[in-house]
Amino acid sequence: MSDGKVTTDKYDVIIIGSGMGGMAAASMLVSAGYKVLVLEKYARLGGRFSTVEYKGFKMPTGAIGIETGGTVERIFKELNVPFEVEPEPRLFYWIDGNTYEMPSRGGVRALLDILAKTSGERAKIVGRIGKEVASAKIMGAFKKGIADVDQLGRTLSFRDWLLQYTDNDDVLAVFRCVIFAMYSLSDAEIPARTFFHFVSKGLGGGYRVYGHARRGNLSLVEALFQAIGDRGGELWRSANATHIVVKDGVARGVVVHRAEDDKEIEVEAQAVISNAGPKKTVELAGRESFDQAYLKDVDGLHPCPIVTVYAGAERPFTDVPGMINTVGTRNLYQFAPVTNTCPEVAPPGKHLLVTFGGPPSSLHPMNARLELERHLQDLKDVLPGFESWAELLRTDTRNIDDEWPVYHSWAGYDLPQKTSVRNLYNVGDGNKPSGMVGLPASAETGIRAANEVKKTIKLK
Ligand SMILES: Cc1cc2nc3c(=O)[nH]c(=O)nc-3n(C[C@H](O)[C@H](O)[C@H](O)COP(=O)(O)OP(=O)(O)OC[C@H]3O[C@@H](n4cnc5c(N)ncnc54)[C@H](O)[C@@H]3O)c2cc1C
Repeated sequence: MSDGKVTTDKYDVIIIGSGMGGMAAASMLVSAGYKVLVLEKYARLGGRFSTVEYKGFKMPTGAIGIETGGTVERIFKELNVPFEVEPEPRLFYWIDGNTYEMPSRGGVRALLDILAKTSGERAKIVGRIGKEVASAKIMGAFKKGIADVDQLGRTLSFRDWLLQYTDNDDVLAVFRCVIFAMYSLSDAEIPARTFFHFVSKGLGGGYRVYGHARRGNLSLVEALFQAIGDRGGELWRSANATHIVVKDGVARGVVVHRAEDDKEIEVEAQAVISNAGPKKTVELAGRESFDQAYLKDVDGLHPCPIVTVYAGAERPFTDVPGMINTVGTRNLYQFAPVTNTCPEVAPPGKHLLVTFGGPPSSLHPMNARLELERHLQDLKDVLPGFESWAELLRTDTRNIDDEWPVYHSWAGYDLPQKTSVRNLYNVGDGNKPSGMVGLPASAETGIRAANEVKKTIKLK
């Protein structure tokens, strides 16, 4: 007993949160024989990789495009859990009312060729000479960007980098869309370096090499936690971590409020991994526990907002499957007619559409009402008659101060897993390795934090 709180068993590691980062860390640690406790404040597991059911539709709480063949799948393999993700090898772009399929290789070249054609046609219609899309010049610049990636500083944005080679509006619009669809961030806000890390390391996961969960994200998460439990890992649902205990500069445990018995309990551990986001981690451990340089980095983190629409219909939304990126739209940058690949996520005969969009900048809180209006207007333009044959199941605007933004940090500004408190680590999408994004990035942070724990805490 300490401070009037009940003290329970000791664990090697306590993980705060059951999102992708937390479950990746838990999987790797139980697999290596560590005694692990996962605390999840909600009854539902998975955070932004989960499912909400409404009228028989299985709607994701976040991710829809799940990386295949990379870090996410590796977590499932680690515990021999079937990875029930239907691979979707196709990716499309919507440009000027037409849908174009990207080849699995050489997508940038194909995009530029499409642009050259559409720019020329548009120029003919308005009776002026279009600015040429010089694909060879841009492809050359891309090769240079990849070769020079480690010399590019953090302050050169991708847009400023691209403007050195072209000011063609169509080219700028297409890369704006590519970057928004991957990073939920504007091309003027992402460092060029981060984008070229993505390209040079072939980090297509979740964006280019992906699939959808056959029975919704939550069924994958529940299966993984079942396997974590089978290997001795413990999970407390509806258990809110209210304080990370730090003594003499070292993380020693967590105080948790359990809804089940309405008790506040202090749980001891040799290490704590937080999946609550870096800002929340600081709040839980207290600012006084961290050094000034670390606090400055955490205070400087910018989350990214997102606008999401979930719609149902009696007819298919499109005749193509997969993710469709939209170029030149107001707010919408991507939509996925999920049931074209995974019919089981809707009631028999019905169809589910998930769409993503965002404001022009992530620097300040968005005007959520206005951005949603812009998003819905885009949907009417992209899917003609949408409003008459589709039902809006749910709309969601996640602002930068939301508990669950799309990412806890702009890509390129993330923090490492280690904090300035010994044996306290952060996992999740405020800690993405450069170039990586979304689920694969969050899974990778869990793997890395587990590796750090394995180095510091030796099993007896
Ligand atoms: C709308 C949307 C669309 C997206 N689309 C894609 C996509 O298509 N592909 C892709 O790869 N990525 C996508 N992402 C991003 C992806 O979903 C996230 O990057 C990833 O799921 C984040 O995982 P995480 O590890 O940061 O954990 P989170 O999802 O943030 O989960 C953290 C968990 O910790 C719990 N927690 C927090 N505080 C406490 C506490 N004090 N005590 C106990 N528990 C606590 C939370 O309840 C939560 O369950 C999308 C995100 C959003 C929002």
